[in-house]
Amino acid sequence: MGDTEGKVIVVDDSRFIRYLVKDVLEQEGFTVTTLPDGQALLACRDLETTDVLLLDVVLPDIDGFTLCRKLRMHPELAHLPIIFLTALETQDARVKSFEVGGNDYLVKPIHPQELLARVRTHVKLRKYLRELEEKNRKLEELTAELEHLAFFDALTGIPNRRSFDQRLAEMEANHLRYGTPYALIVIDIDHFKYYNDVLGHHRGDELLRSLAQVFLRSVRGGDFVSRFGGEEFVVLCFGAREEEGLVVADRLRKNVEEQSFPHPKSPIAKVVTVSCGVCGREHARSATDLFTRADRALYEAKKRGRNRVVAFEELQEEEWTAKERDA
Ligand code: GH3
Ligand code: MG
Ligand code: MG
Repeated sequence: MGDTEGKVIVVDDSRFIRYLVKDVLEQEGFTVTTLPDGQALLACRDLETTDVLLLDVVLPDIDGFTLCRKLRMHPELAHLPIIFLTALETQDARVKSFEVGGNDYLVKPIHPQELLARVRTHVKLRKYLRELEEKNRKLEELTAELEHLAFFDALTGIPNRRSFDQRLAEMEANHLRYGTPYALIVIDIDHFKYYNDVLGHHRGDELLRSLAQVFLRSVRGGDFVSRFGGEEFVVLCFGAREEEGLVVADRLRKNVEEQSFPHPKSPIAKVVTVSCGVCGREHARSATDLFTRADRALYEAKKRGRNRVVAFEELQEEEWTAKERDA
């Protein structure tokens, strides 16, 4: 027997049928509970863990078809195999067995071999269904995990570059349709290579995690922080023009410095610092251009000595001044 053993409930008002079914099934290793009427079935608390319900159609209180309909209203009993025991060997009764949500029927008088064959089949199906449900649940969990991995950075737990691309596209669409401004901040750790060289890659990773948290704490609700890759982070400031982006970047840079993470070999400070480039969408031709310009501002921040924020507009003003001077 082995894998077809299971829990069976028999509802029949005939003591003889209850005895017969219990005897036949128990000899084959099934656990059998017998009940005399519909009320007893409705009061039964074991239905969810039951593998097969054998249900008499004609009962003294509530008929089997009505009971079946009632049980099927509970979502957790949607897949409980219900086999009707019926003396009504009419086509109408057989059709009705299925209409009310039954899975099978057995015509009385009951033949032990047929009873066993049908119960075994339904127990097996029930088992496969349970396994399938379990696999489905695991698959859903895995899918959610994969989705998370696809959009979040494994090291810091914050959104990754793919998420950034998505958010950027959303903000750009908003900008084109409604004129909503937004600004981009590109952040890069100062002399991070030295940090890794002196303290080790593992401590470098820890620093990336800590900085991600500092960045998250430093921005406003609608802003979006993500790890663009390596030691580069980006922040999208929704509804902000360059000036406001600059304020966020300044706060962010200051907060990092105030954390006083020791950076023994930094040529510019004793602690970890970051440089930022900022560009507002109003100073760019497109989303791609915005990125290029923020990156140029970052480059300038590095050139000017690091641990500072440079806005794209400053560069243009300088170009203007240079042009005027040269003119
Ligand atoms: P700069 O101030 O000009 O930005 O100097 P830097 O040393 O930070 O810049 P550079 O581009 O020379 O070095 C970046 C370093 O970042 C090198 C690389 O090993 C390190 N890095 C990138 N990704 C990771 C990472 O995931 N973990 C760790 N620990 N280090 C990383
Ligand atoms: Mg870099
Ligand atoms: Mg760097």
